Amino acid sequence: MRVIETISELRRHLAELRGKGRRVGFVPTMGYLHDGHLSLVRTAKNNGCFPVVMSIFVNPLQFGPQEDFERYPRDLERDRRLAEAAGVDVLFVPSTEEMYPRPIRTRVSVRDVTDRLCGRSRPGHFDGVATVVTKLFQIVQPDQAFFGAKDYQQVQVVRIMTEDLNMPVEIVACPIYREPDGLAMSSRNVYLSPEERKQASVLYEALRDAEERVRNGERKGAVIVQAAREKIASRPLARIDYISLVDADTLEDVESIDKPTLLALAVFFGKTRLIDNTVLIPTTIGR
Ligand code: AMP
Repeated sequence: MRVIETISELRRHLAELRGKGRRVGFVPTMGYLHDGHLSLVRTAKNNGCFPVVMSIFVNPLQFGPQEDFERYPRDLERDRRLAEAAGVDVLFVPSTEEMYPRPIRTRVSVRDVTDRLCGRSRPGHFDGVATVVTKLFQIVQPDQAFFGAKDYQQVQVVRIMTEDLNMPVEIVACPIYREPDGLAMSSRNVYLSPEERKQASVLYEALRDAEERVRNGERKGAVIVQAAREKIASRPLARIDYISLVDADTLEDVESIDKPTLLALAVFFGKTRLIDNTVLIPTTIGR
């Protein structure tokens, strides 16, 4: 595995590797790697991508002023070992100065799909994401890029952006990786105290409960959301940011589950904001 810190060296190296019939796979991350990140690498490799490029860059542009940019967990040595063991071919670890040598004058901003869910709670966040992903796509020029469904809204934003701007890259969404008790893996889980960590499994329980209700024929959005709200609120350390039921494509609010519908939630445990989601698929079984 080659570790590269500068854009010019990365370009040179990829120019050598890029060949006829080769498919460059790209996994953008903010590091502090866990199995969720590594599953994206495995999917890239299973898709026959070579080289598989992973970036690790904690992007200041996507953090709000009161958010955790400064204390976001970082451990490059550990990440390097994990990335290499997972089969990453090129690890790109630019500094902030390399990515933003001067204050950036350009923003990539995706409308509509960004003004709800996490976009409402984190103003400017998705502009920061869309801008850095655009820069990274320009730098790496991947054929396929792999994103986790844990950040469902992010996947939609990136999909819309690449479609609108004719970016020649295929976006591949990968399933959510979970801890044994169901908590979605996240670099931010290390922030949780032991008691918060214990209670955080309620997010998964609430999602599974919603799936079961839909399997049993429930179609009323308000009932599903209320049940999830009560379940999560029963854990004293949980503070709900949002629980929303939205169209799985447009992310517009829906009132009933007549087609694949995203149940998305963001919940604070202490200062730590966790997100999770599931797509509820109505079937005729149970009706
Ligand atoms: P992050 O480092 O948190 O920005 O995440 C980098 C990529 O890994 C994003 O595409 C995330 O959606 C994805 N990812 C993070 N956590 C998980 C998980 N638990 N399962 C699958 N993908 C994940």
